[in-house]
Amino acid sequence: MAATGSTYRTCGCRDGAGRRLRARCPKLRRADGRWSTTHGSWNYQLEMPLHADGTRRNPLRRSGFATQDAAEEVNQAKELLAIAGGDTEISVQIADLITTSVRTTKTLPIPEEVPRARSASATT
Ligand SMILES: [Zn+2]
Repeated sequence: MAATGSTYRTCGCRDGAGRRLRARCPKLRRADGRWSTTHGSWNYQLEMPLHADGTRRNPLRRSGFATQDAAEEVNQAKELLAIAGGDTEISVQIADLITTSVRTTKTLPIPEEVPRARSASATT
């Protein structure tokens, strides 16, 4: 299964009942339909491989990007996951590494830190 990721723009506005409007806030778009440059911030969500025991892993979610950096980071995360080359065990390790790295440092691991399948490990 290929990793799918999406970026979306949200803000902190709430409706009359106190619920977050998230992407539904009308102020996020300008009258001409383009994204507002002053309201809200970019977020992304990326589906992650299953845990080693086969249970579902929460998607990788990050918020608060000022610009389309969110889309760039999604692509970087997808590239990291793609290093597994379809190897389930490696993809679990990479997903663990990404999750831990984002939680502790707020950044993705660099490709050199990512485990590789044994057949492609000539450089490690
Ligand atoms: Zn808003």
